[in-house]
Amino acid sequence: MSEPRCLLCEIVDGKIQAEMVLETGRIAAVVNRSEALAPGHCVFFPKRHAASLHDLDDAELAEILPAIKRVATAMGIPTYNVLQNNGALAGQTVFQAHVHLIPKPSEHEGLRRLHEPPGPIDHTPLIRRLKERLRA
Ligand SMILES: [Zn+2]
Repeated sequence: MSEPRCLLCEIVDGKIQAEMVLETGRIAAVVNRSEALAPGHCVFFPKRHAASLHDLDDAELAEILPAIKRVATAMGIPTYNVLQNNGALAGQTVFQAHVHLIPKPSEHEGLRRLHEPPGPIDHTPLIRRLKERLRA
């Protein structure tokens, strides 16, 4: 059975053109040309298909943040956001895990805050489950 294919897999295979900015053994980074929020908006992703963050190997994860640091440093951007969405409800539109590096050069470019905090939230059930499972 073959792996699922997606836009990012097609880029890795060279079937879709993209401007590669960095490549390591396990991951690649390209300029986001289709939905860029600011000049220099790049997307970092594993070279194999994996839908969500929790599907990535620790080794892949370990290459992503240093790669983002290298690119942000090389671009010389002092203000930026790092964003990672999992699942359609969370805003994921390409269903291969990827991490955005979004420069924030001005108030009106880059990532914008869309929501105000909704007020007091009860974390108890989720945190109780988390602590039980981390202990197990
Ligand atoms: Zn893919």
